[in-house]
Amino acid sequence: MVRRGDWMLERLLERGTATAVESVGGRWRRVRLEGVGGLDWKPGRHVRVQVGELSLRGARDLLRTYSVWDYDGDALELRVFGHGEGPGARWAGELEKGAEVMFKAPEGGFTVREGAAGHLFVGEETASVAFGAMTRSLDGRARAVVEVGDPADRLPIEGDVAWLERGAASAFDSKRLVEAVASLEGLAPGTVAYLAGEAKTCQAVKRHLLHDRGWPRRDIVVKPFWTPGRRGMD
Ligand SMILES: Cc1cc2nc3c(=O)[nH]c(=O)nc-3n(C[C@H](O)[C@H](O)[C@H](O)COP(=O)(O)OP(=O)(O)OC[C@H]3O[C@@H](n4cnc5c(N)ncnc54)[C@H](O)[C@@H]3O)c2cc1C
Repeated sequence: MVRRGDWMLERLLERGTATAVESVGGRWRRVRLEGVGGLDWKPGRHVRVQVGELSLRGARDLLRTYSVWDYDGDALELRVFGHGEGPGARWAGELEKGAEVMFKAPEGGFTVREGAAGHLFVGEETASVAFGAMTRSLDGRARAVVEVGDPADRLPIEGDVAWLERGAASAFDSKRLVEAVASLEGLAPGTVAYLAGEAKTCQAVKRHLLHDRGWPRRDIVVKPFWTPGRRGMD
């Protein structure tokens, strides 16, 4: 028997088939979903994937959010960072080729601002999925400061990229990232800053841009992805 909740999910969610599930270096897992034509996607948008089942305890562990690395009109590419034992990390670790995956159609306003004088991307690993897609659409006309735990966790990002390594330190409230942004020179007035990833670090970088550099608030786009203690941020 189809339960009422399952029936609603069927109506709300898209459905694709996992045709590739593999490690692509470092802690990254590639997930390719095929048979998902006709989606409205722009670089920077994300999908919310069903990683668990509906239960009487609620829906907190039902969906997790992942940026779309690429979409060719029929297949979606995702990159999932392995960081623990949460429902999303578990889903990506256990997913098998051939499995059916349900997800909400691409959404989100974290996308490239057309006509900006320049584009600056700042964040850590999880943000680098969106940054990869967004910088590809800019043909390298981008600067980025990206922090990773290990060099093996670098995803391809186009443009002038400063990579920072934090080793075993936490990505929470990264002073290193703020200092690296503070040391950047030659940013054209009218550059748009895209800040994503760990929430406290996003706030710290935003504060630096606003207060130390006098960056116009309208030219800062922020999308927190996760922070310690919060589950399934969106
Ligand atoms: C718009 C958007 C786009 C995103 N895109 C991607 C993406 O492309 N790839 C990707 O891997 N993630 C991405 N994320 C982040 C991902 O949704 C979160 O990391 C999510 O919390 C993972 O779910 P989980 O069930 O594994 O852990 P949860 O149960 O949600 O979290 C449990 C705990 O794990 C810790 N945690 C969560 N995420 C991380 C992390 N990244 N690093 C270290 N510790 C963490 C926190 O302490 C958290 O309290 C995105 C998030 C948003 C909002």
